[in-house]
Amino acid sequence: MKPVVDEGLCIGCGNCEQICPSIFQVIDDISKVVDPEGCDMQDCCEAAEENCPVEAITLED
Ligand code: SF4
Repeated sequence: MKPVVDEGLCIGCGNCEQICPSIFQVIDDISKVVDPEGCDMQDCCEAAEENCPVEAITLED
């Protein structure tokens, strides 16, 4: 799974960074995917996706 953040939707709440700090980092109020290949725990990325309040995270194969 490869997480992608729609930067136009992200409001910088920090949920994804809190759940998956090795993958997401909020920089200047926008979440960046700092390690797109780093998510080997599918549940972690799915939790980030589910806990994004604006549905800015999608998971690609
Ligand atoms: S959870 Fe969603 S809105 Fe919050 S920082 Fe991450 S991508 Fe942005």
